[in-house]
Amino acid sequence: MVSSVSWVRGKCVGKGAFGVVNVAVSKRDNRVFAVKSVDCGRGLSGQVEALENEIGILKRVTSPHVVAYIGDDVTCEGTASFRNLHLEYMPGGTVADLDRADVDERLVRRYAWCLATALRDVHAQGFVHCDVKGRNVLLSGDGEMAKLADFGAAVEIESSPAMLLLPRGSPMWMAPEVVRRERQGPESDVWSLGCTVIEIAIGKPAWEDRGVDTLSRIGYSDELPEFPIQLSELGKDFLEKCLRREPSERWSCDQLLQHPYLLPYYALVE
Ligand code: ADP
Ligand code: MG
Ligand code: MG
Repeated sequence: MVSSVSWVRGKCVGKGAFGVVNVAVSKRDNRVFAVKSVDCGRGLSGQVEALENEIGILKRVTSPHVVAYIGDDVTCEGTASFRNLHLEYMPGGTVADLDRADVDERLVRRYAWCLATALRDVHAQGFVHCDVKGRNVLLSGDGEMAKLADFGAAVEIESSPAMLLLPRGSPMWMAPEVVRRERQGPESDVWSLGCTVIEIAIGKPAWEDRGVDTLSRIGYSDELPEFPIQLSELGKDFLEKCLRREPSERWSCDQLLQHPYLLPYYALVE
């Protein structure tokens, strides 16, 4: 174990069952970054494993719309030791915390484009994110740039058969085939993307959480989450391509980036 002498832990910007996310400052050059930490002694072993998994995958993923890996280390702080992941700091909070009054359809489209770009890159580089949802989408200070974060549940596409034993992710965003424990592939991320776009538009999860009942509706009925009435026909058409119950009929992220709902951004910015 080494004690970090190279950076200082600042204010807390996120907390979960996993541990904590703080802002940090490098002593060498005053650079600001985010540190996601798990207490090795107190955290359940699964949390350290999830962070190790995240570190291993984020190191290998590169995308302008994925929160960038900066480094990792182990620190001794008091009597505790922490496993730390250093990340690009996103000061704008998450899309789940946005003030609804600030969200018009231009922003919905923009974030949908950012996420489709992130997932296209993640999938092309051989991974499935498995936990796409509003709380894992972080914003730049001016709110114009959204990046995908939290790769704790992510897996390599090759190892996907193992996922049948244990679905990964957050229930309200899970694809039907994941709820049924059949498979969890890139298509499952696309379903979660659709749920997240609805979440951004309406300011709450696409499915109302009614526990087991909701899971059975997602997994075993013909129901779809309600498409937001405030979205244009083009927006609803985009959602229909994401939220097809049959995974093989869902559009890929490559296809989604060619959809007229996103194409203007794709053409202009990339
Ligand atoms: P968990 O696996 O516990 O969900 P996350 O990686 O999603 O952990 O981080 C938890 C919360 O911490 C996020 O929802 C966000 O509010 C905040 N957070 C995480 N990473 C960053 C970052 N790089 N910059 C700013 N805030 C972050
Ligand atoms: Mg998270
Ligand atoms: Mg996580």
